[in-house]
Amino acid sequence: MPSSPDLAAALRERIRREGFITVADYMDAVAAAYYARGDVFGQDGDFITAPEISQTFGEIIGLWCAVTWQKMGKPDPLYLIECGPGRGTLMADALRAAKGVAGFAAAVQIHLVERSPALRNLQREKLKDWAIRWAEDIADLPPGPSIVIANEFLDALPIRQFQRTPDGWAERVIELGPHDDFVFNTRALGDAPVPIALAATAEIGAMFETSNVVAAFVTKASQRIASHGGAALLIDYGHTAQALGDTLQAVKQHTYHNVLEAPGSADITAHVDFTAVAAMARKFGATVHGPVEQGTWLRQLGIGVRQVQLAKGKPVDVAQRIEQGVRRLTEPHGMGVLFKVMAIANPKLPSLDGFAKD
Ligand code: SAH
Repeated sequence: MPSSPDLAAALRERIRREGFITVADYMDAVAAAYYARGDVFGQDGDFITAPEISQTFGEIIGLWCAVTWQKMGKPDPLYLIECGPGRGTLMADALRAAKGVAGFAAAVQIHLVERSPALRNLQREKLKDWAIRWAEDIADLPPGPSIVIANEFLDALPIRQFQRTPDGWAERVIELGPHDDFVFNTRALGDAPVPIALAATAEIGAMFETSNVVAAFVTKASQRIASHGGAALLIDYGHTAQALGDTLQAVKQHTYHNVLEAPGSADITAHVDFTAVAAMARKFGATVHGPVEQGTWLRQLGIGVRQVQLAKGKPVDVAQRIEQGVRRLTEPHGMGVLFKVMAIANPKLPSLDGFAKD
């Protein structure tokens, strides 16, 4: 995988050859190069995710998985699949918490969907007490009852952007400017799948985002769950009502970074369109639970109780850190509201913990 200067050169070369690249192609190349760098997470890295903030996050998810497995009738094996596991922290915390549930640890077959070799190494180290298998794509896994976890995975998948121009909708592309710098432009490339209700209100310059890669992932996950049983837990930042807007962003060392500058040196993401995800899941035979706000979901599942347990008997400063972590995950000015939790489930599962009944 090229490092960032090489990636920029490779992208320039490709643009010279092809005239432009779409936002989706750019995002795909940039994300692949970025995650190939390895450990980009945490306080010393570029951005911090929920499992890196507090161990309670992965623990609650682990218990949710064990309870869902019981509701499924305790299948053995259960494919426990995590997509985009980062450092492997969430899975490690989840397994530690869930192994107390009789039979769960013996039933799980753990699969990690991860395309970065450097991150696979971190995950191998973190999960060395467990038998782990890796896959490039969820479609490569053997069929069977599954629980799928994806935290901040969908936001890393490439999106397409469409912009309203005086001549109608056009796809947003990246070209080379006068100084060989990357610049945005639009090209009328044919299809522009903008929902009619949104198109009707769009002014010149308005942007609509969609993701073929998210759609392909949700299709595969939903088909798997509808055919063989189980559920997928999707946690990400995004909007619950479809809207116009440009959410493409890059983050480096915890601050916003120009998306077109030094590609591959910063994390590049977009908000998840949960309405589109839900529609796709239903189309392929799955039921949808939520989305609910992350803070609400975690509190319903007892994160407060876990916090008290963890802090018991600890020095004041440690107890305070535990409390701060939980607050950051649950409070509105932290990740409690922007982040949403949605589950896609087999219709045989009538209810799932943390979600009000449909
Ligand atoms: N879930 C982790 C990390 C989120 S970062 C956490 O909460 O800390 C995004 C993760 O998705 C990384 O592990 C990245 O390598 C992986 N990823 C991104 N695009 C991918 C793709 N197309 N296929 C497989 N994994 C991908």
